[in-house]
Amino acid sequence: MRTVAQHQEAVRDLLAPFVDRDPMIVSGVTASALAESGDSHRVLAAPVDSPINLPPFDNSQMDGYAVRTADIVPGVSLRVAAPIAAGAGIRSLEPRSVAPIMTGAPIPIGADAIIPIEAALPPRFPPASVPATVAFLRVPEVGAFVRRRGSDVPAGTRLLPAGRALGPAQWGTVAASGVTELAFKRPINVLVLSTGDELRAGGAPLAPGQIYDANGMSLAIALAECHAIVESVLVVRDDVAAASRVLADHGPWADLILTTGGVSAGAYEVVRDLFVGAGVVFDSVLMQPGGPQGIGMASFAASGQALERPLIAFPGNPVSALVSFEVFLRPVLRELHGLPPARPRHRAPLADALDSPEGKHQVRRGTLNAAGEVELIGGPGSHLLHSYAQSTLLVHIPVGVSHLDAGDPVEVWNISD
Ligand code: AMP
Ligand code: MG
Repeated sequence: MRTVAQHQEAVRDLLAPFVDRDPMIVSGVTASALAESGDSHRVLAAPVDSPINLPPFDNSQMDGYAVRTADIVPGVSLRVAAPIAAGAGIRSLEPRSVAPIMTGAPIPIGADAIIPIEAALPPRFPPASVPATVAFLRVPEVGAFVRRRGSDVPAGTRLLPAGRALGPAQWGTVAASGVTELAFKRPINVLVLSTGDELRAGGAPLAPGQIYDANGMSLAIALAECHAIVESVLVVRDDVAAASRVLADHGPWADLILTTGGVSAGAYEVVRDLFVGAGVVFDSVLMQPGGPQGIGMASFAASGQALERPLIAFPGNPVSALVSFEVFLRPVLRELHGLPPARPRHRAPLADALDSPEGKHQVRRGTLNAAGEVELIGGPGSHLLHSYAQSTLLVHIPVGVSHLDAGDPVEVWNISD
């Protein structure tokens, strides 16, 4: 028997070697390359510094006129020079002239301020082909509407630290700095095996006594939410020889093997039969659902060689498997992939009384009603996956509690996002 905290620690220890794995260095990282790969979930293994100033040159913040402030006298007309578009090279501004300039265009040498087009007389640009003059109402301050070189990021600035998961703004700032070679943490590859002779993959007809595999789907999605890579989700028969063949074929590339089913005390417990004495410890965790658990460095043979891979074995009932994932694996995988590890959690009063096995940490499913009270959905049965699917909360009733009354506070984890 082990406590929830002890098993959480065991999972953390098993996956600890992944924290310091060699990074993967990727070059040619561009938006189109990312779009092609379809995977932008990345965590930096090394910091990113900007090799350039951002902006790289002084440029205009407005559509307007680039001017020498010393030349501006309110109401006195000045000659209009050729316009400067975004993307133009660096020009010079002749004394006693002003240049139409567009947002993002480089400030010409000699100019020291921008006057927005709205403050010009007339407040519109003349056609470029016709000689023209323009006057202004006021003398601008030196530097007005000029975006200085390096004002966002001076060259050499640390843009992002190691360990940062990249979201849109982080990817954008990397792109703006022109950095295309990055060191990423390696995401964890997971092999998901649903064990059970009764299981069929979706699409196949059910014979009497058979059910569809729910765990493969829910765990594949749960793993994806942790930015783990799921390359294969397979149904495995309750047959040691068949399961060994699956491991030989698919085990070698996996960083982690995640199984469901076959760990209880019944007959035909294929995961237990395969790995008891082969690196995996099978134990009872004081949690309901999700009591029977297996964990360890599993030994198996592939291509005539002995291999070892971290293996985590959850019980087969779909609610048990998913609650096990939430409590044991999700926080560790999320942290490894640079994501917030914990579900948002708070305490709220129960809408109704409940009973709980005193010696176990019970996890129920529920939602908040209009009064902000926790309403349970479905009973404690660990086959009630549809009730789970309707829930927005995991409701935690700790060890030592056998009964709670309506109005008693419980800890809830928000699982709705
Ligand atoms: P086990 O842990 O293998 O004893 O399975 C416990 C219960 O969960 C049994 O009723 C199984 O039929 C069911 N079960 C096991 N694996 C799955 C799965 N992948 N999808 C849906 N139900 C499952
Ligand atoms: Mg089974």
